[in-house]
Amino acid sequence: MNLILFGPPGAGKGTQAKRLEDRHGLKQLSTGDMLRAMVASGSQLGQEAKRIMDQGLLMPDQLVIEMIADRIGQSDCAKGFILDGFPRTVKQAEGLDAMLASRGLKLSAVIELKVDEAALLARIHSRIAQGQARGDDTPEALQKRLKVYREQTLPVLPYYEKTGLLRSVDGMAPIDNVSQAIEAILSQVKG
Ligand code: AMP
Repeated sequence: MNLILFGPPGAGKGTQAKRLEDRHGLKQLSTGDMLRAMVASGSQLGQEAKRIMDQGLLMPDQLVIEMIADRIGQSDCAKGFILDGFPRTVKQAEGLDAMLASRGLKLSAVIELKVDEAALLARIHSRIAQGQARGDDTPEALQKRLKVYREQTLPVLPYYEKTGLLRSVDGMAPIDNVSQAIEAILSQVKG
């Protein structure tokens, strides 16, 4: 089973991807995690990536498409994968399609976590109030990432709607309920 978890930053994609890994033996592939590892390596490319990520902007399409292409071919993805944070542009979605087709692979479903932007901002304010916010976890940074999401990533939804793969769940529901809604979708989806 090959899935995409789709939704704005802070929607809970990572949490749900981890649960799917445990339940179904799928591999979570998060381009954000891969890019943070690149930044941590201190390489030249990593330093450049940090500048772009700190501004809440997107990394070049070709770079992230190649990162994903490389990971999907590895043995830990044999049972399937969950894409988390990718694709973020229509170009990335097209690149993914071409790459999967060339390998005889298919997507099983694209699951959208529908959330309310005002509630995402409220969550950040509460993390800050509780001292749990990360360095880049500021209301300003989130506003910027949400703007990029609206402008560059939301157009990916109609792309998958046309293919009939798109399913939506209420991402504002409690975490367990979101997981149940995803499981209900997966029980109707063929590998
Ligand atoms: P995330 O952890 O998914 O929110 O990603 C953190 C940051 O990494 C984003 O704000 C982007 O700068 C970059 N990034 C992650 N995934 C992608 C992607 N698919 N395309 C371009 N940039 C990405």
